Amino acid sequence: MPELPEVETTKRGIEPWLKGATIEQVVVRQPQLRWPVVNEIQQLQGQVIQGLQRRAKYILVATDAGTAIWHLGMSGSLRLVEPNEDTRLHDHIDWQLSNGKILRYHDPRRFGALLWLPAGQAWQDSEYLAHLGPEPLSDAFDGDYLYQRSRGKKQAVKTFVMDGKVVVGAGNIYANEALFLAGIRPTTAAGRISRVRYQRLAEHIKQVLAAAIEQGGTTLRDFVGGDGQPGYFAQQLYVYGRGGKPCRQCSQTLTEIRLGQRSTVYCQSCQR
Ligand SMILES: [Zn+2]
Repeated sequence: MPELPEVETTKRGIEPWLKGATIEQVVVRQPQLRWPVVNEIQQLQGQVIQGLQRRAKYILVATDAGTAIWHLGMSGSLRLVEPNEDTRLHDHIDWQLSNGKILRYHDPRRFGALLWLPAGQAWQDSEYLAHLGPEPLSDAFDGDYLYQRSRGKKQAVKTFVMDGKVVVGAGNIYANEALFLAGIRPTTAAGRISRVRYQRLAEHIKQVLAAAIEQGGTTLRDFVGGDGQPGYFAQQLYVYGRGGKPCRQCSQTLTEIRLGQRSTVYCQSCQR
């Protein structure tokens, strides 16, 4: 599933080809995505792309007529192809650009979306984006913020930081890894964690996400002509996917549990 770093990598990869280009044609082969693609999306035709922006896992494409909002869902990808490239199964949407390229959306499971926000409607107010927590790499997100938000909360700290209303982008891999690096046990009640420990956790959430974005950057060329696979988190993982294996820090066997229906791995001696 594309997480925030892959979405950021996608945005950076396609931006140079989209910004300033005119959308000459919009071809929707399959409108039944997570939410149906509305006919108004055709208003993009003839529009110049002013710029791209990422918010959480949404990519916003601004034009004078309105803002198009991509979401890659579980299995979606965006890449730039040449006009003569045949469409494959699950290539649902094309934007034909004035520079000759086609932006092509591929999504086997169809949990992604292409939304339309007419001009005059602020994207911050849209029903999809209005309730999102701060960006993890912004100054608005830090240990003090987590500490304040968590007071009185009995839910597990891992579930708390994975809540997009608290902070966006702390997906399962990143939450597992950041909690390990901060030495915090994922099952601890969010309201019982000190300010100092939250400061450490916030720093590690920022670090693991920034590292993943940096890794993704090395695959940017794939957005043109390549297989279009975003750069997945390739750096060495401490706990995610390693249940039953030895802790990289103390060699004790890592514990794997389900927490909020998500696989959760931690070290009983390093995380308290
Ligand atoms: Zn350990």
